[in-house]
Amino acid sequence: MRKHKWMIKNGSFAVLENEKSTLRGYMVVEDHLITYIGEEEPQVDENTEIIDGTHLFFMPGLVNTHGHTAMSLLRGYGDDLALQVWLQEKMWPMEAKFTADDVYWGTSLSVIEMLKGGTTTFLDMYDHMDQVAAVTEQSGMRGVLTRGVIGLCPPDVQNHKLAEAIAFAKDWHGKAGGRITTMISPHAPYTCPPDYIEKFVQAAHDLDLPIHTHMSETAAEVEQNVQDYGLRPVAHLQKLGVFSRPTLVAHAVHLTNEEIDILAAHQVTVSHNPGSNLKLASGVARVPELLKAGVTVSLGTDGPASNNNLDMFEEMRLAALIHKGVTGDPTAIPAAEALRMGTVYGAKSLFLEGLGTLAAGMKADFIALNTDQAHFLPHTDFISHAVYSASAKDVEHVWVDGKQVVKNGVCLTLDEEKIRREAQSAFERLLTL
Ligand SMILES: [Zn+2]
Repeated sequence: MRKHKWMIKNGSFAVLENEKSTLRGYMVVEDHLITYIGEEEPQVDENTEIIDGTHLFFMPGLVNTHGHTAMSLLRGYGDDLALQVWLQEKMWPMEAKFTADDVYWGTSLSVIEMLKGGTTTFLDMYDHMDQVAAVTEQSGMRGVLTRGVIGLCPPDVQNHKLAEAIAFAKDWHGKAGGRITTMISPHAPYTCPPDYIEKFVQAAHDLDLPIHTHMSETAAEVEQNVQDYGLRPVAHLQKLGVFSRPTLVAHAVHLTNEEIDILAAHQVTVSHNPGSNLKLASGVARVPELLKAGVTVSLGTDGPASNNNLDMFEEMRLAALIHKGVTGDPTAIPAAEALRMGTVYGAKSLFLEGLGTLAAGMKADFIALNTDQAHFLPHTDFISHAVYSASAKDVEHVWVDGKQVVKNGVCLTLDEEKIRREAQSAFERLLTL
């Protein structure tokens, strides 16, 4: 089959791996891959489709490394509460009523928000994952999907949930033209007994998949872990063999220096969720120290009920700002580093290869921002503007795997009006139950 080849000309591009952080010029895409990026105009045949990139800033698609997207149905339902109260009194009772349909519409609502806001890859840890996979497949987005399992239940229910997690991971890994990959997820050390976590480690070994879990989100949870098991969560998970697999932990807010060293030594990656951590008053993760120790730190929104949007520009900005504020060092997380956390470190955190930068040979997941706006002027430094001035609303076009999924701010793959209507009625139905 003939390759679909096209070229963007006169665009500004983020190239974070070079000394220079942006270049003005050309980018060529063939099928799923970027094959050229540079200032020199490349030779292309006359059949090559040309897109004018003037007034656009192209950057890698954003990678959201932690979330529970169907929780968009509970956005605004329980705010301004501590994590355990919020979970036990607000979220869990409502989530227990979620049907597969609810998850389908909640996920669709989140996926459309994410795609239109420039997020091209998302991690989702939830239940009814077949629905999440169906939405991912349909939307054209890239998804790292995992059935998150809470093990506070009798052994037969535990076994059933584990089998479900394994079946999902097996069935969907590599599907949707490779856009869907899977992981294995015990929800957290405080929701899964140790022997149960060990079964997930075994499953991850058997399937050769990474592990994803929540870890050390709140001080209370760390304290409880010490009381219950005599160890802080990092040593606890290490003892259970979790870090013998490639592992991504969400939050990692409360860490000692020794724990940072253990994470670095095992190449455990971290999803930093500044918006969610601030909203639930969980604390501020030691991100500059983690990065300094060589840990890959990426960004996640967490579920839309604890954020409450899925705007990854906001997470980049928060990551850049709060660590300056907390450390008293304005150089703590520079704009370019925040942008890397939102893109290439995201791909690394999810153990995805060939993703997260604009360079020849990389997967063609990228977005274009409209720079013809007041808050993008003057045209001094687009990396700075993307982190300190932009928001999801500035995203004009989005491509995933070389295919355009958002054009002029409109999602081409999903029916937004229908999704908005169905999501609202799903919430109203849940309230009556
Ligand atoms: Zn979470």
